[in-house]
Amino acid sequence: MEEDLKGRYKLMKPNFSVQAFSRRVIITLTILITVSTAAIFLLIYLPLNTELKKSLIGNFNQLSYIRYSSLQSIMDRSFEGARSLSSRTVIRDAILDYKDEKFDLEALKRFTQSKYEDGAGALDYLLKAERFVDEDLIARYTSEIYDEHCTVLDQLKVSGEESALCLTDNYEYFVVRSSILSQGRVIGYDLLFFNLSGQIHSLCTETIKSELLYQDKFEDLISGANILQKNDISSLIYKDGIYYHEFYLQGGVHFIISQNEVSLLEPVYRLSKQMLLAGIGVLLLFALGVYFFIVRHARNEMEDNCTSLSDAISEVNTDSLTKTGSRRFGEEFLSVSFERFKMGEQSPAILLFDIDSFKMINDLHGHSVGDLVIRSVAETVQKSIRAGDVLLRWGGDEFIGVFSGLNKDDAIAFAKKLLYAVSNLNIDTDTDIIRPTISIGISYFLAEDHSFIDATNRADSAMYQSKSEGRNRVHKL
Ligand code: GH3
Ligand code: MG
Repeated sequence: MEEDLKGRYKLMKPNFSVQAFSRRVIITLTILITVSTAAIFLLIYLPLNTELKKSLIGNFNQLSYIRYSSLQSIMDRSFEGARSLSSRTVIRDAILDYKDEKFDLEALKRFTQSKYEDGAGALDYLLKAERFVDEDLIARYTSEIYDEHCTVLDQLKVSGEESALCLTDNYEYFVVRSSILSQGRVIGYDLLFFNLSGQIHSLCTETIKSELLYQDKFEDLISGANILQKNDISSLIYKDGIYYHEFYLQGGVHFIISQNEVSLLEPVYRLSKQMLLAGIGVLLLFALGVYFFIVRHARNEMEDNCTSLSDAISEVNTDSLTKTGSRRFGEEFLSVSFERFKMGEQSPAILLFDIDSFKMINDLHGHSVGDLVIRSVAETVQKSIRAGDVLLRWGGDEFIGVFSGLNKDDAIAFAKKLLYAVSNLNIDTDTDIIRPTISIGISYFLAEDHSFIDATNRADSAMYQSKSEGRNRVHKL
């Protein structure tokens, strides 16, 4: 019963909302996280990303320079090797003897061949070497892996150039024409074919490619490409997701080192992904932390406070002696009912009743028996009315009942039922049996009323009319 009443007299609600609080915190957190994410992205992530990219491209440039230098040094060594072969004294002097007709061409060939092979065999990367005197081939060296394709460069024999690069489908050759000199006079020349393929391919890795390209193929490559950097010896080019570092070698041949953007910038992408995940993780942890340790705690606290406040409101609204509604609640309830009436709802019946000659009961049986009588009358009336009707202790031995849907024609009969129920009460006090009665005054809200007080005043007057006419009766105004 008590629990029922707790929830019953609760028109006034706690004036703050837990949901609104949670919503505000969530909105604040969302804004905070969005702004932090944007700030991290713009102030840390993007600049770091750009710097990292620059540094990786710089790295690629440096590695390309190392590869270029390594190729250059192989070509330089090949050149020096050719020079040293051409200047070997014993076989060179044999040419002079031949020129002086000390022996014939066949004798020169026989003399030169084995010594020439010894000398050429000592040179790195050498595939083929040929010695010519007066356009006669007098000695020849070929390595086991010599590929006849390089004969296409025999033209060097007549071109006068000192060296050239020859690219075939499968091989890259460095060809050197080295003059044999005696006292500043050219007495013959050597034609040497060095293999660069091995060297170029040894410069390749899984992700970095090195190759030599003729001018026309290079031009195809750079058409529509984005040239990022350019200086006297090299240029950095970007095309279709690939970075190229180009060095001009000689005779329209370019040395190209290339790397796929994805593999080149893979560390940036990996780091970016990790940073992004870590950032999101930290922000989520922060949000969860704030939610669980602050919002949830605060929400529980507020809910507890709301419950306590709600209980306190119920208590203030309940009369402690009779568990009917208190006058405080009654005034609020009647005020709301009057507002609804003003908005067009039907007026409820307002029954004001007072225990007859109650002072005498108090005087004869004592205050606690008086309390018992008040409680018994309230209980009896409460039992006689519907759950939706509201019974209020208006003060002392005076009550007001508010009955929705009780029309004026039925009100008197209903009030008589209450009179009858109360008058049938027998309150046993050990020494005596008390049979209380009540007097009732009925009123309704009227259009000309300014507040519910006008109606309660009319009910009061009607009730006094009942008193003055002998009590235990009802009147309506
Ligand atoms: P009437 O028939 O004209 O109403 O006569 P009455 O004696 O009942 O007069 P009235 O209603 O004015 O008296 C109310 C009395 O109720 C006065 C007061 O001492 C007493 N009273 C008020 N509140 C309480 C209470 O909580 N308990 C008890 N025991 N008595 C109360
Ligand atoms: Mg009285």
